Amino acid sequence: MAGEDELRRLLQRIDGRGYKAYRELRGSFELGDPTIHVDHVQGDPFAAPSRLRLRVPMERARLPAAWFSTPARRLALEDWLARRAAEAIRSLPDRRGSGQSGVVRVDSGGQQVLARSAARVCADWVELRLEAGLPAAGRRVLGGEAEALLCDDLPALARQALLADALPSPSVEAFVDCIDDQEHVRAQLGELGLVAFVADGSLLPRASGASDLPLERGAVAFAAPPTLRARVTLAHPRADGSRELIGLGVPRGITLIVGGGYHGKSTLLRALERGVYPHVPGDGREWVVSAPGLVKIRAEDGRRVERVDISAYVRDLPGARATDAFSSDDASGSTSQAANLVEAVEAGASGLLLDEDTSATNFMVRDARMRALVHPEDEPITPFSERVRELYDTLGVSTVLVMGGCGDYFEAADRVIRMREFEAEDATEEAHRIAAADPRPRPTAKTPLTPPPPRTPLAHSFDPSRGRREVKIDARALDAIGYGRQTLDLRGLEQLLDWSQTRAIGHAIHLASQRFVDGRATLPEILDALDALLDAEGLDVLDPFHRPGRHPGNYARPRRFEIAGAINRLRTLRVRNANAPA
Ligand code: ADP
Ligand code: MG
Repeated sequence: MAGEDELRRLLQRIDGRGYKAYRELRGSFELGDPTIHVDHVQGDPFAAPSRLRLRVPMERARLPAAWFSTPARRLALEDWLARRAAEAIRSLPDRRGSGQSGVVRVDSGGQQVLARSAARVCADWVELRLEAGLPAAGRRVLGGEAEALLCDDLPALARQALLADALPSPSVEAFVDCIDDQEHVRAQLGELGLVAFVADGSLLPRASGASDLPLERGAVAFAAPPTLRARVTLAHPRADGSRELIGLGVPRGITLIVGGGYHGKSTLLRALERGVYPHVPGDGREWVVSAPGLVKIRAEDGRRVERVDISAYVRDLPGARATDAFSSDDASGSTSQAANLVEAVEAGASGLLLDEDTSATNFMVRDARMRALVHPEDEPITPFSERVRELYDTLGVSTVLVMGGCGDYFEAADRVIRMREFEAEDATEEAHRIAAADPRPRPTAKTPLTPPPPRTPLAHSFDPSRGRREVKIDARALDAIGYGRQTLDLRGLEQLLDWSQTRAIGHAIHLASQRFVDGRATLPEILDALDALLDAEGLDVLDPFHRPGRHPGNYARPRRFEIAGAINRLRTLRVRNANAPA
């Protein structure tokens, strides 16, 4: 392998030449502690930066094995290292040049901790995956700046971010233990009969609608009503020596969150949505822990729907359209919400999260006056209030629902939490008393609820080609993927958090279509196969040009629900539905 002297000589030799001369850098250079692997060299100074990896052998990095002894701890450590590197990059000297010259980036996370490709730790080495803009003057190689960047800055970065001696051990340990404990709490939810836990003292509100940082001033700390209190244990002692947390246990079944407008209902639900992921210490929501299978469901008119059985919620549409294999290029508010719900159950959701703010009214409720005015035979919709109980009793799918404007869910709710000036109260008995004194009219006659019928995606649904490129998939925004010639709109997937998850979803669809879509496998089977592959091989396998030991690009692990959500929104998706074979 080439060493530092060769790298310096190479850069001196190509100084002043056309930018393409940087291609000679492709390969590996041993630079003391780190080896720099140059995997991809950008075509010109204005293109996406080059991709490099900094790898340090573990005998030199000497990270204590206890920091990555379990999958949760490794995930936490890798996340921490990427954050550390991002911080160290901020103190690198500015490098001159045109376009992206001197830019150094690492894909570090926000308030949540996700499995991501930016850093990898294994028994033999630790590695950072970076993007770096190779310096140029106009379109000419700026050799001196490149030498400083590659031979001085990046090795210094590797030493600061990857060598145990340079790391603040107590904060690494606190971070890793905290994430580990969040997963420890998540593992207890099942046996406690809970779908979520919100510790007393949690700070749920965010700085603004555009920021995921905690609200700095005036946040009211969460406190569980005594009758809904649950206890969870921790694997690592807290600052005060205790090993347990007390807070709200959201039980399986149906939980209703009520309260006046602006009293904190949606903020609580939003914390539960995000609680499927661990949070960084200090976020305020680190002890809001949700079951991994909770899925937010909203109305999303205009989306495409492909042969989904929404007949439990919508039937006998005008024009005699079948709804046991309902398709639409432009679904309405209610049919889109029904499809979102059925698709989530199909993908294996253990619970649903709904908010009145983002739901279709006619999907959620129908009052007595409307029942009197619009004859049941003319109303295709069975409101969710008439299915929510059955959904839990027959399919085992729980619901947490925010509904401040209507009392139609009082009967069905196992628990009613009332938010009052950001304080939670148990209003279950009161709500049940009110419901008993003022019963609802008899519900619409309906067929029993059954599990969604298997849907089998067909291979010709998936065409990622555009122009001369056979595979052209790019994440254009957090909620938009360019997939071949179409743009996938993911705005309906509210639990998608990170642009790198979006990128991963685009490539996961491609991988699934190549390896698992065969005209026989059902969508849930395809999701299982994809999850198993990602568990076994990690995110690097998503890179369409994957070779072992190559910078795969920036990925963060998406959940199966968001992958399914994206597949379901492909405008070209075609499936066979067991109800109504095509
Ligand atoms: P609702 O859904 O009941 O109408 P929201 O959850 O949207 O209310 O909250 C209304 C406002 O109050 C938001 O700006 C939110 O950030 C803020 N808020 C929510 N919870 C708290 C809290 N615990 N402490 C302080 N402010 C809060
Ligand atoms: Mg609200």
